[in-house]
Amino acid sequence: SDAASDRGVRAYLHVNTDEALAVAAEVDAIRAAGGAEAEALHPLAGVPVAVKDNIVTVGQPTTAASTMLDGWMSPYDAHVIERIRAAKLPILGKTNMDEFAMGGSTEHSAFGITRNPWDLDRVPGGSGGGSAAAVAAFLAPFALGSDTGGSIREPAAFTGTVGMKPTYGAVSRYGVIAMASSLDQVGPAARTVTDAAALQQVIGGHDRRDSTSLPDEQADFVAAAANRDLTGVKVGVIADQSTEGFDAGVKAAFDADVQALRGAGAEIVEVSCPHFDAALAAYYLIMPSEASSNLARYDGVRYGNRVVPEGGGTIEQVMAATREAGFGPEVKRRIILGTYALSAGYYDAYYGSAQKVRTLVQEDFAAAFEKVDVLLTPTAPTPAFELGAQTTDPMAMYLNDIATIPANLAGVPGLSVPGGTVDGLPYGLQLVAPAREDARLYSVGAAVE
Ligand code: GLN
Repeated sequence: SDAASDRGVRAYLHVNTDEALAVAAEVDAIRAAGGAEAEALHPLAGVPVAVKDNIVTVGQPTTAASTMLDGWMSPYDAHVIERIRAAKLPILGKTNMDEFAMGGSTEHSAFGITRNPWDLDRVPGGSGGGSAAAVAAFLAPFALGSDTGGSIREPAAFTGTVGMKPTYGAVSRYGVIAMASSLDQVGPAARTVTDAAALQQVIGGHDRRDSTSLPDEQADFVAAAANRDLTGVKVGVIADQSTEGFDAGVKAAFDADVQALRGAGAEIVEVSCPHFDAALAAYYLIMPSEASSNLARYDGVRYGNRVVPEGGGTIEQVMAATREAGFGPEVKRRIILGTYALSAGYYDAYYGSAQKVRTLVQEDFAAAFEKVDVLLTPTAPTPAFELGAQTTDPMAMYLNDIATIPANLAGVPGLSVPGGTVDGLPYGLQLVAPAREDARLYSVGAAVE
Protein backbone atom coordinates (compact mmCIF):
# COMPACT_ATOMS: atom_id res chain seq x y z
CA SER A 1 0.00 0.00 0.00
CA ASP A 2 0.96 3.60 -0.46
CA ALA A 3 3.28 4.68 2.37
CA ALA A 4 2.08 8.28 2.34
CA SER A 5 -1.61 7.50 2.74
CA ASP A 6 -0.64 4.82 5.27
CA ARG A 7 1.26 7.44 7.36
CA GLY A 8 4.25 5.12 7.63
CA VAL A 9 2.26 2.54 9.60
CA ARG A 10 2.03 -0.12 6.87
CA ALA A 11 -1.09 -1.69 8.30
CA TYR A 12 -2.17 -3.29 5.04
CA LEU A 13 -0.66 -6.03 2.90
CA HIS A 14 -3.25 -5.46 0.20
CA VAL A 15 -5.77 -2.70 -0.43
CA ASN A 16 -8.74 -3.08 -2.72
CA THR A 17 -10.14 0.40 -3.12
CA ASP A 18 -11.97 -0.42 -6.36
CA GLU A 19 -14.03 -3.20 -4.84
CA ALA A 20 -14.69 -1.17 -1.67
CA LEU A 21 -15.85 1.85 -3.69
CA ALA A 22 -18.08 -0.35 -5.84
CA VAL A 23 -19.85 -1.76 -2.77
CA ALA A 24 -20.16 1.74 -1.29
CA ALA A 25 -21.65 3.03 -4.56
CA GLU A 26 -24.11 0.13 -4.60
CA VAL A 27 -25.22 0.98 -1.05
CA ASP A 28 -25.55 4.67 -2.00
CA ALA A 29 -27.71 3.75 -5.00
CA ILE A 30 -29.99 1.55 -2.86
CA ARG A 31 -30.35 4.31 -0.27
CA ALA A 32 -31.07 6.90 -2.97
CA ALA A 33 -33.73 4.70 -4.58
CA GLY A 34 -35.45 4.26 -1.21
CA GLY A 35 -38.25 1.76 -0.74
CA ALA A 36 -38.15 -1.75 0.67
CA GLU A 37 -34.61 -2.50 -0.40
CA ALA A 38 -33.30 0.62 1.31
CA GLU A 39 -35.32 -0.21 4.41
CA ALA A 40 -33.80 -3.68 4.46
CA LEU A 41 -30.21 -2.42 4.38
CA HIS A 42 -28.13 -3.44 7.36
CA PRO A 43 -27.45 -0.43 9.64
CA LEU A 44 -23.71 -0.84 8.92
CA ALA A 45 -24.12 -1.10 5.14
CA GLY A 46 -21.45 1.04 3.50
CA VAL A 47 -19.21 1.18 6.59
CA PRO A 48 -15.87 -0.25 5.46
CA VAL A 49 -13.94 -2.96 7.28
CA ALA A 50 -10.35 -4.22 7.14
CA VAL A 51 -9.63 -7.95 7.36
CA LYS A 52 -6.67 -9.80 8.89
CA ASP A 53 -4.84 -11.69 6.18
CA ASN A 54 -5.50 -15.15 7.65
CA ILE A 55 -9.21 -14.88 6.80
CA VAL A 56 -9.90 -16.07 3.26
CA THR A 57 -11.47 -13.68 0.76
CA VAL A 58 -12.47 -14.16 -2.87
CA GLY A 59 -10.96 -11.48 -5.11
CA GLN A 60 -8.18 -10.44 -2.74
CA PRO A 61 -5.04 -12.42 -1.88
CA THR A 62 -4.83 -14.30 1.41
CA THR A 63 -1.27 -14.99 2.56
CA ALA A 64 -1.30 -15.22 6.38
CA ALA A 65 1.81 -13.03 5.92
CA SER A 66 3.75 -16.10 4.78
CA THR A 67 5.94 -16.71 1.74
CA MET A 68 4.23 -20.10 1.67
CA LEU A 69 0.99 -18.48 0.50
CA ASP A 70 2.42 -15.45 -1.33
CA GLY A 71 -0.06 -14.53 -4.07
CA TRP A 72 -2.63 -17.18 -3.14
CA MET A 73 -6.22 -16.40 -4.06
CA SER A 74 -8.89 -18.28 -2.16
CA PRO A 75 -11.65 -19.86 -4.25
CA TYR A 76 -14.15 -19.30 -1.43
CA ASP A 77 -15.03 -16.78 1.29
CA ALA A 78 -14.76 -17.38 5.02
CA HIS A 79 -18.09 -17.49 6.84
CA VAL A 80 -17.38 -14.11 8.44
CA ILE A 81 -16.69 -12.64 4.98
CA GLU A 82 -19.99 -14.02 3.66
CA ARG A 83 -21.71 -12.23 6.54
CA ILE A 84 -19.83 -9.01 5.83
CA ARG A 85 -20.71 -9.11 2.15
CA ALA A 86 -24.37 -9.88 2.91
CA ALA A 87 -24.51 -6.78 5.14
CA LYS A 88 -22.71 -4.80 2.38
CA LEU A 89 -19.71 -3.65 4.37
CA PRO A 90 -17.01 -2.72 1.82
CA ILE A 91 -13.78 -4.64 2.43
CA LEU A 92 -10.89 -2.18 2.34
CA GLY A 93 -8.12 -4.73 2.25
CA LYS A 94 -6.10 -7.34 4.09
CA THR A 95 -4.04 -6.41 7.11
CA ASN A 96 -0.52 -7.38 8.12
CA MET A 97 0.14 -9.90 10.87
CA ASP A 98 2.77 -12.19 12.29
CA GLU A 99 3.21 -15.14 9.93
CA PHE A 100 0.37 -17.64 10.47
CA ALA A 101 -0.64 -15.54 13.52
CA MET A 102 2.45 -16.64 15.46
CA GLY A 103 3.85 -13.71 17.38
CA GLY A 104 3.08 -10.72 19.52
CA SER A 105 4.50 -7.79 17.56
CA THR A 106 3.82 -8.12 13.79
CA GLU A 107 7.58 -8.31 13.30
CA HIS A 108 7.32 -11.92 12.09
CA SER A 109 5.51 -11.06 8.86
CA ALA A 110 7.26 -12.28 5.71
CA PHE A 111 6.27 -8.99 4.06
CA GLY A 112 7.70 -6.41 6.47
CA ILE A 113 6.71 -4.94 9.79
CA THR A 114 3.77 -2.77 10.81
CA ARG A 115 4.46 0.21 13.08
CA ASN A 116 2.49 1.58 16.01
CA PRO A 117 0.70 4.80 14.99
CA TRP A 118 1.34 6.26 18.47
CA ASP A 119 5.09 5.95 18.02
CA LEU A 120 6.48 4.65 14.73
CA ASP A 121 9.53 3.23 16.54
CA ARG A 122 7.32 0.85 18.52
CA VAL A 123 5.45 -2.35 17.67
CA PRO A 124 1.67 -2.35 17.26
CA GLY A 125 1.45 -5.70 19.06
CA GLY A 126 0.59 -8.94 17.37
CA SER A 127 -0.23 -11.09 15.76
CA GLY A 128 -3.01 -8.82 14.50
CA GLY A 129 -0.96 -5.63 14.57
CA GLY A 130 -2.14 -4.61 11.11
CA SER A 131 -5.83 -4.64 12.05
CA ALA A 132 -5.25 -2.74 15.31
CA ALA A 133 -2.90 -0.21 13.70
CA ALA A 134 -5.34 0.37 10.82
CA VAL A 135 -8.08 1.17 13.34
CA ALA A 136 -5.84 3.31 15.55
CA ALA A 137 -4.49 5.29 12.55
CA PHE A 138 -8.01 5.92 11.17
CA LEU A 139 -7.22 3.78 8.13
CA ALA A 140 -10.37 1.75 8.86
CA PRO A 141 -13.25 2.28 11.31
CA PHE A 142 -13.03 -1.33 12.42
CA ALA A 143 -11.38 -4.58 11.43
CA LEU A 144 -11.41 -8.34 11.87
CA GLY A 145 -8.73 -10.13 13.81
CA SER A 146 -8.10 -13.63 15.14
CA ASP A 147 -7.13 -14.45 18.69
CA THR A 148 -5.45 -17.72 19.65
CA GLY A 149 -3.53 -16.42 22.67
CA GLY A 150 -4.18 -12.68 22.62
CA SER A 151 -3.73 -11.56 19.01
CA ILE A 152 -6.78 -9.28 19.02
CA ARG A 153 -6.47 -8.04 22.61
CA GLU A 154 -2.73 -7.34 22.93
CA PRO A 155 -2.61 -5.18 19.75
CA ALA A 156 -5.72 -3.36 21.01
CA ALA A 157 -3.92 -2.60 24.26
CA PHE A 158 -0.79 -1.40 22.42
CA THR A 159 -2.71 0.91 20.07
CA GLY A 160 -5.34 2.37 22.41
CA THR A 161 -8.18 0.55 20.65
CA VAL A 162 -10.80 -2.04 21.56
CA GLY A 163 -10.33 -5.75 20.84
CA MET A 164 -12.68 -8.61 21.57
CA LYS A 165 -12.03 -12.36 21.62
CA PRO A 166 -15.54 -13.84 21.62
CA THR A 167 -16.53 -17.04 23.39
CA TYR A 168 -14.98 -20.04 21.63
CA GLY A 169 -17.54 -21.10 19.02
CA ALA A 170 -19.42 -17.78 18.94
CA VAL A 171 -17.90 -16.88 15.55
CA SER A 172 -17.33 -19.46 12.83
CA ARG A 173 -13.76 -20.48 12.01
CA TYR A 174 -14.80 -21.65 8.53
CA GLY A 175 -12.30 -20.08 6.15
CA VAL A 176 -9.91 -18.92 8.85
CA ILE A 177 -6.40 -20.26 8.29
CA ALA A 178 -5.91 -22.54 11.26
CA MET A 179 -3.20 -21.93 13.83
CA ALA A 180 -4.36 -23.89 16.92
CA SER A 181 -7.92 -25.00 16.26
CA SER A 182 -9.04 -25.46 19.87
CA LEU A 183 -7.98 -21.88 20.68
CA ASP A 184 -8.53 -19.83 17.49
CA GLN A 185 -11.39 -17.37 17.50
CA VAL A 186 -12.25 -14.50 15.15
CA GLY A 187 -13.32 -11.18 16.62
CA PRO A 188 -13.54 -7.42 16.11
CA ALA A 189 -10.94 -4.66 16.46
CA ALA A 190 -12.57 -1.24 16.81
CA ARG A 191 -12.23 2.25 18.26
CA THR A 192 -15.17 1.90 20.64
CA VAL A 193 -16.87 -0.96 22.46
CA THR A 194 -20.13 -0.22 20.62
CA ASP A 195 -18.38 -0.52 17.25
CA ALA A 196 -16.87 -3.85 18.31
CA ALA A 197 -20.30 -5.04 19.47
CA ALA A 198 -21.84 -4.05 16.14
CA LEU A 199 -19.18 -5.90 14.17
CA GLN A 200 -19.51 -9.09 16.25
CA GLN A 201 -23.25 -8.89 15.63
CA VAL A 202 -22.53 -9.07 11.89
CA ILE A 203 -19.97 -11.89 11.93
CA GLY A 204 -21.20 -14.09 14.78
CA GLY A 205 -23.80 -16.81 15.06
CA HIS A 206 -24.14 -20.43 14.13
CA ASP A 207 -22.44 -21.97 11.09
CA ARG A 208 -22.85 -25.68 10.43
CA ARG A 209 -19.53 -25.77 8.54
CA ASP A 210 -17.61 -25.25 11.80
CA SER A 211 -18.21 -28.27 14.05
CA THR A 212 -17.37 -26.20 17.14
CA SER A 213 -19.82 -23.41 16.25
CA LEU A 214 -22.30 -22.78 19.06
CA PRO A 215 -25.98 -23.27 18.19
CA ASP A 216 -27.02 -20.23 20.26
CA GLU A 217 -29.05 -17.32 18.99
CA GLN A 218 -26.85 -14.21 19.33
CA ALA A 219 -27.67 -11.69 22.05
CA ASP A 220 -28.15 -8.05 21.08
CA PHE A 221 -24.57 -6.86 21.62
CA VAL A 222 -25.25 -3.27 20.56
CA ALA A 223 -28.07 -2.98 23.08
CA ALA A 224 -25.75 -4.48 25.70
CA ALA A 225 -23.11 -1.85 24.94
CA ALA A 226 -25.72 0.87 25.51
CA ASN A 227 -26.34 -0.38 29.05
CA ARG A 228 -23.45 1.19 30.94
CA ASP A 229 -24.57 1.01 34.54
CA LEU A 230 -21.85 -0.38 36.78
CA THR A 231 -23.91 -0.21 39.95
CA GLY A 232 -23.61 -3.48 41.79
CA VAL A 233 -21.54 -5.14 39.05
CA LYS A 234 -19.09 -7.50 40.76
CA VAL A 235 -15.65 -7.04 39.27
CA GLY A 236 -13.06 -9.64 40.25
CA VAL A 237 -9.41 -8.77 40.66
CA ILE A 238 -7.11 -11.80 40.68
CA ALA A 239 -5.25 -11.63 43.98
CA ASP A 240 -2.77 -14.40 43.19
CA GLN A 241 -1.86 -13.25 39.67
CA SER A 242 1.86 -12.67 39.49
CA THR A 243 2.81 -9.19 38.33
CA GLU A 244 6.48 -10.05 38.02
CA GLY A 245 7.71 -8.45 34.84
CA PHE A 246 4.82 -5.98 34.82
CA ASP A 247 5.74 -2.40 34.13
CA ALA A 248 5.41 -0.24 37.28
CA GLY A 249 3.41 2.33 35.31
CA VAL A 250 0.95 -0.35 34.17
CA LYS A 251 0.49 -1.56 37.76
CA ALA A 252 -0.13 1.96 39.03
CA ALA A 253 -2.55 2.78 36.21
CA PHE A 254 -4.37 -0.50 36.82
CA ASP A 255 -4.77 0.23 40.55
CA ALA A 256 -6.09 3.70 39.73
CA ASP A 257 -8.57 2.22 37.24
CA VAL A 258 -9.80 -0.28 39.84
CA GLN A 259 -10.43 2.62 42.24
CA ALA A 260 -12.29 4.51 39.51
CA LEU A 261 -14.53 1.50 38.90
CA ARG A 262 -15.30 1.32 42.60
CA GLY A 263 -16.18 5.01 42.46
CA ALA A 264 -18.53 4.30 39.54
CA GLY A 265 -20.49 1.83 41.66
CA ALA A 266 -18.81 -1.48 40.87
CA GLU A 267 -18.13 -3.89 43.69
CA ILE A 268 -14.47 -4.92 43.62
CA VAL A 269 -13.93 -8.50 44.82
CA GLU A 270 -10.59 -10.24 45.23
CA VAL A 271 -10.65 -13.73 43.76
CA SER A 272 -8.13 -16.54 43.47
CA CYS A 273 -7.12 -18.10 40.14
CA PRO A 274 -4.11 -20.17 41.24
CA HIS A 275 -3.40 -21.52 37.74
CA PHE A 276 -3.75 -18.23 35.86
CA ASP A 277 0.00 -17.86 35.38
CA ALA A 278 0.53 -21.54 34.51
CA ALA A 279 -1.71 -21.06 31.47
CA LEU A 280 1.22 -19.56 29.55
CA ALA A 281 3.37 -22.68 29.80
CA ALA A 282 0.43 -24.94 28.94
CA TYR A 283 -0.41 -22.75 25.93
CA TYR A 284 3.14 -22.93 24.59
CA LEU A 285 2.76 -26.73 24.45
CA ILE A 286 -0.85 -27.01 23.25
CA MET A 287 -0.61 -24.23 20.65
CA PRO A 288 2.54 -25.51 18.86
CA SER A 289 1.22 -29.07 19.01
CA GLU A 290 -1.95 -28.09 17.19
CA ALA A 291 -0.08 -25.70 14.90
CA SER A 292 2.45 -28.35 13.86
CA SER A 293 -0.44 -30.59 12.91
CA ASN A 294 -2.38 -27.84 11.10
CA LEU A 295 0.67 -26.66 9.18
CA ALA A 296 1.48 -30.16 7.94
CA ARG A 297 -0.85 -29.44 5.01
CA TYR A 298 1.63 -26.97 3.48
CA ASP A 299 3.58 -29.57 1.57
CA GLY A 300 3.73 -27.91 -1.84
CA VAL A 301 1.33 -30.53 -3.18
CA ARG A 302 -2.01 -29.90 -1.55
CA TYR A 303 -1.22 -26.38 -0.30
CA GLY A 304 1.54 -23.85 -0.55
CA ASN A 305 3.95 -22.46 -3.12
CA ARG A 306 5.93 -25.47 -4.31
CA VAL A 307 9.70 -25.25 -4.36
CA VAL A 308 11.49 -27.88 -6.45
CA PRO A 309 15.19 -28.36 -5.69
CA GLU A 310 17.58 -27.63 -8.53
CA GLY A 311 17.64 -30.59 -10.90
CA GLY A 312 14.44 -32.03 -9.47
CA GLY A 313 14.02 -34.29 -6.49
CA THR A 314 11.95 -36.90 -4.75
CA ILE A 315 8.59 -35.99 -3.23
CA GLU A 316 10.26 -35.76 0.20
CA GLN A 317 12.91 -33.42 -1.18
CA VAL A 318 10.25 -31.22 -2.79
CA MET A 319 8.31 -31.06 0.48
CA ALA A 320 11.46 -30.26 2.45
CA ALA A 321 12.50 -27.52 0.01
CA THR A 322 8.97 -26.09 0.02
CA ARG A 323 8.81 -25.91 3.82
CA GLU A 324 12.38 -24.68 4.16
CA ALA A 325 11.73 -21.75 1.82
CA GLY A 326 8.08 -21.12 2.67
CA PHE A 327 8.14 -20.81 6.46
CA GLY A 328 9.89 -18.15 8.51
CA PRO A 329 11.95 -18.84 11.67
CA GLU A 330 9.14 -18.39 14.23
CA VAL A 331 6.85 -20.77 12.36
CA LYS A 332 9.64 -23.35 12.12
CA ARG A 333 10.37 -22.97 15.83
CA ARG A 334 6.76 -23.78 16.68
CA ILE A 335 6.53 -26.71 14.26
CA ILE A 336 9.62 -28.20 15.87
CA LEU A 337 8.30 -27.56 19.41
CA GLY A 338 4.92 -29.05 18.58
CA THR A 339 6.29 -32.07 16.78
CA TYR A 340 8.55 -32.76 19.76
CA ALA A 341 5.73 -32.34 22.30
CA LEU A 342 3.54 -34.77 20.36
CA SER A 343 6.23 -37.37 19.69
CA ALA A 344 5.90 -40.90 21.05
CA GLY A 345 7.21 -41.15 24.60
CA TYR A 346 6.81 -37.41 25.27
CA TYR A 347 3.11 -37.08 24.58
CA ASP A 348 1.93 -37.67 28.17
CA ALA A 349 4.71 -35.62 29.76
CA TYR A 350 4.13 -32.53 27.62
CA TYR A 351 0.83 -32.43 25.75
CA GLY A 352 -0.99 -34.55 28.35
CA SER A 353 0.22 -32.42 31.28
CA ALA A 354 -0.62 -29.22 29.45
CA GLN A 355 -4.18 -30.43 28.88
CA LYS A 356 -4.50 -31.07 32.62
CA VAL A 357 -3.37 -27.52 33.34
CA ARG A 358 -5.94 -26.33 30.82
CA THR A 359 -8.67 -28.04 32.85
CA LEU A 360 -7.37 -26.41 36.04
CA VAL A 361 -7.50 -22.97 34.39
CA GLN A 362 -11.11 -23.67 33.37
CA GLU A 363 -11.96 -24.72 36.92
CA ASP A 364 -10.34 -21.58 38.36
CA PHE A 365 -12.52 -19.41 36.12
CA ALA A 366 -15.65 -21.41 36.95
CA ALA A 367 -15.00 -20.93 40.69
CA ALA A 368 -14.24 -17.22 40.25
CA PHE A 369 -17.42 -16.65 38.25
CA GLU A 370 -19.44 -18.06 41.15
CA LYS A 371 -18.39 -14.89 42.99
CA VAL A 372 -18.06 -12.20 40.32
CA ASP A 373 -19.64 -11.07 37.04
CA VAL A 374 -16.39 -10.25 35.27
CA LEU A 375 -12.66 -10.46 35.92
CA LEU A 376 -10.35 -7.51 35.36
CA THR A 377 -6.62 -7.61 34.55
CA PRO A 378 -4.18 -5.48 32.61
CA THR A 379 -4.25 -6.82 29.03
CA ALA A 380 -0.46 -6.90 28.73
CA PRO A 381 2.40 -6.45 31.21
CA THR A 382 3.83 -3.41 29.42
CA PRO A 383 2.82 -0.75 26.90
CA ALA A 384 4.06 -1.17 23.32
CA PHE A 385 7.77 -1.98 23.24
CA GLU A 386 10.36 -0.75 20.77
CA LEU A 387 10.83 -2.38 17.38
CA GLY A 388 13.38 -5.18 17.61
CA ALA A 389 13.38 -5.23 21.41
CA GLN A 390 12.15 -8.83 21.66
CA THR A 391 12.77 -10.40 18.28
CA THR A 392 15.91 -12.20 19.43
CA ASP A 393 14.31 -13.43 22.67
CA PRO A 394 11.28 -15.66 21.97
CA MET A 395 10.65 -16.22 25.68
CA ALA A 396 10.36 -12.48 26.33
CA MET A 397 7.93 -12.22 23.43
CA TYR A 398 5.86 -15.14 24.75
CA LEU A 399 5.56 -13.53 28.20
CA ASN A 400 3.52 -10.66 26.73
CA ASP A 401 0.60 -13.09 26.49
CA ILE A 402 0.54 -14.04 30.16
CA ALA A 403 -2.78 -12.32 30.88
CA THR A 404 -4.57 -13.01 27.60
CA ILE A 405 -3.89 -16.74 27.16
CA PRO A 406 -6.04 -18.02 30.05
CA ALA A 407 -9.24 -16.92 28.28
CA ASN A 408 -8.27 -18.90 25.18
CA LEU A 409 -7.51 -22.03 27.20
CA ALA A 410 -10.86 -21.75 28.96
CA GLY A 411 -12.82 -20.77 25.83
CA VAL A 412 -14.27 -17.73 27.59
CA PRO A 413 -14.64 -14.23 26.08
CA GLY A 414 -12.05 -11.51 26.73
CA LEU A 415 -12.28 -7.83 25.87
CA SER A 416 -9.49 -5.26 25.91
CA VAL A 417 -10.51 -1.63 26.30
CA PRO A 418 -8.26 1.43 26.54
CA GLY A 419 -7.28 1.95 30.18
CA GLY A 420 -5.50 5.25 29.77
CA THR A 421 -1.86 6.01 29.07
CA VAL A 422 1.43 5.11 30.71
CA ASP A 423 4.31 7.44 29.80
CA GLY A 424 2.29 8.72 26.86
CA LEU A 425 1.56 5.26 25.48
CA PRO A 426 -1.78 3.47 25.67
CA TYR A 427 -2.30 0.54 27.98
CA GLY A 428 -5.22 -1.88 27.98
CA LEU A 429 -7.66 -3.18 30.55
CA GLN A 430 -8.89 -6.70 30.00
CA LEU A 431 -12.34 -7.89 31.04
CA VAL A 432 -13.14 -11.62 31.07
CA ALA A 433 -16.61 -13.17 31.43
CA PRO A 434 -18.02 -16.70 31.53
CA ALA A 435 -18.56 -18.54 28.24
CA ARG A 436 -21.57 -17.27 26.23
CA GLU A 437 -21.63 -13.98 28.19
CA ASP A 438 -20.13 -11.85 25.41
CA ALA A 439 -22.99 -9.36 25.85
CA ARG A 440 -22.01 -8.84 29.49
CA LEU A 441 -18.49 -7.89 28.36
CA TYR A 442 -19.86 -5.35 25.90
CA SER A 443 -22.00 -3.85 28.62
CA VAL A 444 -19.29 -3.63 31.28
CA GLY A 445 -16.67 -2.74 28.66
CA ALA A 446 -18.68 0.22 27.41
CA ALA A 447 -18.93 1.50 30.97
CA VAL A 448 -15.20 1.06 31.54
CA GLU A 449 -13.73 2.42 28.27
N1 GLN B 1 1.27 -13.94 20.81
C1 GLN B 1 0.62 -15.23 20.84
C2 GLN B 1 1.44 -16.22 20.09
O1 GLN B 1 2.43 -15.86 19.57
C3 GLN B 1 -0.77 -15.12 20.35
C4 GLN B 1 -0.99 -15.50 18.94
C5 GLN B 1 -2.41 -15.37 18.50
O2 GLN B 1 -3.31 -15.09 19.31
N2 GLN B 1 -2.64 -15.68 17.25
O3 GLN B 1 1.14 -17.37 20.01
